[in-house]
Amino acid sequence: MNLVPAQYRNVSLADVPVPLDEPALGGYLVGRPVYRRTRYLVVRNAGAYAVMEVSKESELPLFSPVTAMTVIARPEETAFVDAPDTDTAIPTQLARAAAAQAPGARCVIVRGRYGHVSFIADPAPVRVRVVEVVPPWPPKLVDQLERVLDLAEDLPPVELVADLVDLASLARTRPAGHYLFPCRAGSASQAGPRATSASQPSPRAEAASPPSPGAEAAGQAGLGAADVSYLDEIPEREPWTLVGCARSRSIHDWFYGGDVPTVDMCPRNLADQTGQTPAPTPVPTLTKCCLLEDRVSSDDGLVVVPWGASLAQIRDGLQLALAAGRPAPQPGRAGEAPAAPGPTSPAATGPASPAATGPTSPAPRPRR
Ligand SMILES: [Zn+2]
Repeated sequence: MNLVPAQYRNVSLADVPVPLDEPALGGYLVGRPVYRRTRYLVVRNAGAYAVMEVSKESELPLFSPVTAMTVIARPEETAFVDAPDTDTAIPTQLARAAAAQAPGARCVIVRGRYGHVSFIADPAPVRVRVVEVVPPWPPKLVDQLERVLDLAEDLPPVELVADLVDLASLARTRPAGHYLFPCRAGSASQAGPRATSASQPSPRAEAASPPSPGAEAAGQAGLGAADVSYLDEIPEREPWTLVGCARSRSIHDWFYGGDVPTVDMCPRNLADQTGQTPAPTPVPTLTKCCLLEDRVSSDDGLVVVPWGASLAQIRDGLQLALAAGRPAPQPGRAGEAPAAPGPTSPAATGPASPAATGPTSPAPRPRR
């Protein structure tokens, strides 16, 4: 599953003057020279495509005759798509293009960015559940993961399953006339933060006209007429209900002391409460926690990154999640993007020498 060429140089595209069945292709290809880096051939005839894997006599000379070939995908199970925004070196991007443009095809050949051609056979992106609170929009952890995946050449294709918890809905589970959120960014909507006199709690009377920033944010967040204040602005103490995590609770204790009704919004705790996606294999969960400051933790399929995780930490967390979701170590085929690599992923195999030629590797040229 998830067979993806490790490098675009391994893939050659060739027009062939024979039918795309195994005997005809074998008769045509075996004995023909191919470029030393070529491992896969995308062959085309009369608008149909097939994908082959070839063995060569040697990888030392620049070109070497094909000695054997196996069919990766026959024409009837192969689709060709143009996806000019897709970087075909990134398995997740390949899988995304395949799912969007040729769902159901066993093998999808993608012509992507720079005109490079690659393919994915038996696409089965690894699902990772992401538990996150919103706002802000876009959900930060999901957005960061997507950005990491967009560059992840050495990870298998991943499909993020966002499990979002709306903070206003969460707050409403404990009805109150006044809510205290950790910060404005964590409560306001797409409108973003606004300049306001931070230390003034907004009296409810102001909510009519003009709307106070707090009331407006509350309205946007679906809290109706409730007042909203923000802990990081250290407002004057009111009989509010704190919507926050353990760290917010500690900060509240520090400044105000005393008891405060609290709605726990720590995604790590929410991850246990929200429904696990039903799946034949366990889906690893990735989330964040206010109490983690500089490390990533992984325990029994639950990976937790710090609240303000860097992209590097997000990447570490993703690798841990993939390792946690892996049923058993898989041998993998040399040179392929492995199904679920550990923290150190193998690079492409084959002779480790610089490519001698330009970006497109020559394919066997039919002589007509
Ligand atoms: Zn937490």
